[in-house]
Amino acid sequence: MESQVENALRARIIAWVQERAEANGGFLLRDELLGFWIDDQKLPIIDYSRGIRNPTSFEATLSIVSAPNGPYDDTESDDGLLHYAYRKGDPWSGDNRKLRNALVSGSPLILFRKEQPNIYTPVTPVYVVGDRPEERTFIIALDESFNFIPSITRMPEPQREYARRLAKQRLHQPAFRTRVVVAYDKQCAVCELKHASLLDAAHIVPDSEERGVPTVDNGLALCKIHHAAYDQNMLGVTPDFEVRIAHQLLEEVDGPMLKHGLQEMHGRTITLPRRRADRPSPELLAWRYERFGELVS
Ligand SMILES: [Zn+2]
Repeated sequence: MESQVENALRARIIAWVQERAEANGGFLLRDELLGFWIDDQKLPIIDYSRGIRNPTSFEATLSIVSAPNGPYDDTESDDGLLHYAYRKGDPWSGDNRKLRNALVSGSPLILFRKEQPNIYTPVTPVYVVGDRPEERTFIIALDESFNFIPSITRMPEPQREYARRLAKQRLHQPAFRTRVVVAYDKQCAVCELKHASLLDAAHIVPDSEERGVPTVDNGLALCKIHHAAYDQNMLGVTPDFEVRIAHQLLEEVDGPMLKHGLQEMHGRTITLPRRRADRPSPELLAWRYERFGELVS
């Protein structure tokens, strides 16, 4: 395939993946990725049985799949870059050749984090920015600007800090959203709204705090309005899972969103994930509720 044609097709596939993930609540299902069609042609976006997808007609890799290890990625290093091991076999042919082509051409790739069987969080575009034959790894970055850093191995601290910040925004946050939205069976814990595209994962302890890790027990699936209300301390959740609305709001008189969307939530019990391990930690809820209490009293 001519490279311009391949680039155009790649851009359309990436756009479709982003749109579909947004509509689903941040992730795609295995069947959607395997059953993808474009221009009357079936073109699976992931491979049936391998963690890399190299369509025959493509010169450069289309997607790679990584298995997360807890909230973090198995390929992630503390410099905020991903270290992707060479595929088995000849380092100069097959999959490895197509990954190297992506490095040379600067083609954007899709990284899928497989959160659990059938559930894939896309992180795209990502770029192959380095090749370390001595370690048999490719370096993958979330931003093509890393192409222009002369030595990835000795990145200056400001770039390292930038890479870590990007990893938080583009890798950890989307994966956190998927895990939380799936754990809560795609509904708002406060109001039961079931449109995944309108759901977020709220941190109980904010991620600016040391304890604010992106684990499911520090999360709540909340619709956009309840997420914002929670972050603004207009809405609180007690350690025994009860919703509280700030006094000032309870006394206000206004339209239906205030009345039905907020005031009537006061005193409700949140909907919990089915799996016990996914439930919000009462200890973390207590930490957060103390801040809410301080502000409303
Ligand atoms: Zn809600």
